[in-house]
Amino acid sequence: MADKAIFLDRDDTIIADPGYINTPEQVKLLAGAGQGLNELRKLGYKLVIVSNQSGIARGIFTENTLAKIHERLKKLLAEEDAYIDRIYYCPYHKQGSIPKYRKDSDERKPRPGMLLRAAEEMNIDLDASWMIGNSYNDISAGKSAGTKTILVKSHTNKPVRNLADPTPDFEAINLKEAANIIKRELACPVEQAEIKQASTAEEKIEPEKTALEPTLPETQHPLAETAETESESQKLNDVEKKLLRETNKTEHLLEEIKLILKSRNRQDAFYEFSTMKLLAGVIQIVVLACLFVAVLYKMSPAEKDAAAFTAIGFAVVLQLMVLTLYIMHNDKQ
Ligand SMILES: [Mg+2]
Repeated sequence: MADKAIFLDRDDTIIADPGYINTPEQVKLLAGAGQGLNELRKLGYKLVIVSNQSGIARGIFTENTLAKIHERLKKLLAEEDAYIDRIYYCPYHKQGSIPKYRKDSDERKPRPGMLLRAAEEMNIDLDASWMIGNSYNDISAGKSAGTKTILVKSHTNKPVRNLADPTPDFEAINLKEAANIIKRELACPVEQAEIKQASTAEEKIEPEKTALEPTLPETQHPLAETAETESESQKLNDVEKKLLRETNKTEHLLEEIKLILKSRNRQDAFYEFSTMKLLAGVIQIVVLACLFVAVLYKMSPAEKDAAAFTAIGFAVVLQLMVLTLYIMHNDKQ
């Protein structure tokens, strides 16, 4: 029997993407990545990374470096009790500067080559599988291979959509939410069709029940009782599904709010520190020093008034500078 798999993009899906990752130290797991992967494994999926790595064709890093980067990724995931079954990557690019890797490859996403090869080598049922990624190239590759798809929409790096790009089946804020969506879909697949079927079933039962009412009381007709029980349990199922959908929506919103607040805090910290503010602080110290010197001159037995007034004059000018710098800093915000 074939396995089912989750095909995963790597950059900005599992780890943060600062551009090209060319040293192991740059590997940083995204929030919810380890937990999401754990939950997906518990659902019985093989976890397979499929990643475009044209940095090799462009001469930015070698396959050896990439192996080290993936070792680091596995180590970080292991610390969160998560692991990946296999990593596929496409080192080719048609405009690459390294001749060995300069070619147009069917394995480069948005083409589905990597997924198709993995399916053959790992005996994976693509119909029962999912592709999760942060770009429409990932969604196209998943759709072409025949998997269901989830677009991970990070609020920092929004995916760019072209006219020809297919619509993902679902969208999520990170891997944890993607895992929740798949869990929900396994619990109640194709919910719209089911709800439609349920309402049709109810419609069918209703006339039967009405026809029986004039001749036999409900309590005396076992068929009517069974129909009513089934209808009620169907209604309960629908309510459960609705609740599940609402819970997922709320989780999505909370996750989004959390990420926005985190980024706000980072921005606030940045605004808090500025060169102007630092300069104003330093000058403020000099102002206090000038005032201290003025007091010393005034208290000295020789009573050097002229020197004391000069020091006070400096203090006033510098204090004005401090105020100007503070006003400029606030205006910039
Ligand atoms: Mg990516």
